[in-house]
Amino acid sequence: MKNPADRTQGFFSSALVALLILAVLLVLALTIRYVGFPGEQETPSSTSATPLATMPTTTLPSTTTQTTDPTTQTTTETSVPTVTTRESTTYSSATVTVPTTQTTQTTQTTPPETTLPATDYDVSDEAMEALIEQRFLTVHPKSRPGYKLTSVKNIVVHYTGNPGSSADRNWRNFENNKPNTSAHFIIGMEGEIIQCIPLDEVAWAIGTDEGNYTSISIECCHPDATGEFTDATYRSLVRLVSWLCNELSLDRDDVIRHYDYPRYTSSGMEWHKECPLYYADASDPASHARWEAFKDELILDSDPPKGEEDEIEELIEKRFLSIHENSRPGYKLTSLANIVVHYTGNPGTTADQNWRNFENNKPSASAHFIIGLNGEIIQCMPLDEVAWAVGTTQGNYTSISIECCHPDATGRFTDATYESLVKLVSWLCNEFDLDRDKVIRHYDYPRYTSSGMEWHKQCPLYYANDKDPESHKRWEAFLDDLTIE
Ligand SMILES: [Zn+2]
Ligand SMILES: [Zn+2]
Repeated sequence: MKNPADRTQGFFSSALVALLILAVLLVLALTIRYVGFPGEQETPSSTSATPLATMPTTTLPSTTTQTTDPTTQTTTETSVPTVTTRESTTYSSATVTVPTTQTTQTTQTTPPETTLPATDYDVSDEAMEALIEQRFLTVHPKSRPGYKLTSVKNIVVHYTGNPGSSADRNWRNFENNKPNTSAHFIIGMEGEIIQCIPLDEVAWAIGTDEGNYTSISIECCHPDATGEFTDATYRSLVRLVSWLCNELSLDRDDVIRHYDYPRYTSSGMEWHKECPLYYADASDPASHARWEAFKDELILDSDPPKGEEDEIEELIEKRFLSIHENSRPGYKLTSLANIVVHYTGNPGTTADQNWRNFENNKPSASAHFIIGLNGEIIQCMPLDEVAWAVGTTQGNYTSISIECCHPDATGRFTDATYESLVKLVSWLCNEFDLDRDKVIRHYDYPRYTSSGMEWHKQCPLYYANDKDPESHKRWEAFLDDLTIE
């Protein structure tokens, strides 16, 4: 028989083993509960990301309460999902799936442009019309004076200088406080765009008359004092500037910062407004590099060879006529079939005089370009609009017309006029991919009298005169001088 002490010892040792097993199990259970298996570690963080990702949806009501029109309300509300796109960049790659699925779920209710991936920049008329909310300011001397621009030379980018303020708040500042400042557009931090002023009117944005009367200004909202734009603002700015350039036949060099206008103190010292700050900080060379990088993003219709482009640009003065039924009707061309050459029929008159005749007398005649006696070129309207130049609807809606000044009744062009005409027509052909046989004279459109007799306008006379066979040879010689690629 064993002694009781042995038995007690046996009992104690098995109890110890049981306790040890229990302790191990407890530790194991706790580890699984609070640390999890290695493969599962993302789950808690990604579940906590879900409520975060949905949070931005609650940020907008303040804007929507401002609008009275129910239709504008819906558009503002549906623009919210863009926020999730910006959010996704702040998550680690493992959690990105959450905001992505959210975007796809909401696509049905969003306007077309928000469904585009971040890299996609749609600058079509349809997409831009959907993106821009037109909310014109009341005409008032200190916000929207209602004066007409004399020409459009530049698109000018600004920053509001009010960190964190929305497009809507800046719009209400212009409208309610009449602060002696304004802009044609305000781009908000979610990329929303409000148009405050029609494109042919003056905004108080530059600080000089010359600037205010010849430019279109865009104010950009920004979240903090650095003035850096959000991705959404930046993307809308690229699209808006690109679209304006294409609409108004402007190019990269015409896109400038408020900074680029030299200003002068009362003592005559030149200075530059650091606007938009993050892209125009005199003490930070990187800011200027950012500006160049921004311009590289622009999606411009055409990039013709640089030399030719520069040369023609120096020659052309853009001075668009006011929209009026009898001069620049504002209708869009249906297609572009021909470049048409004319002569003014007013011996000795200048390009400027002919421009003023179109603008002031509304003579039911006009042209896209006037070439003066010294070779100067005035562009009277954008290239996608109708001019009253040909005398037939078919012709007017499918052509770009060039009027040439001439010193006397023969209609012969000066050498300077002729040279500019060769350059301009060559450039237009290359720009619009037109062949030599698309370059015609006004003469080449057959016209008909009321009794059905065909006739041809002797225009441009020196190169289209039925009584002078040489005139037709001169026209062929002109076509030979064109440099069409
Ligand atoms: Zn500015
Ligand atoms: Zn003509």
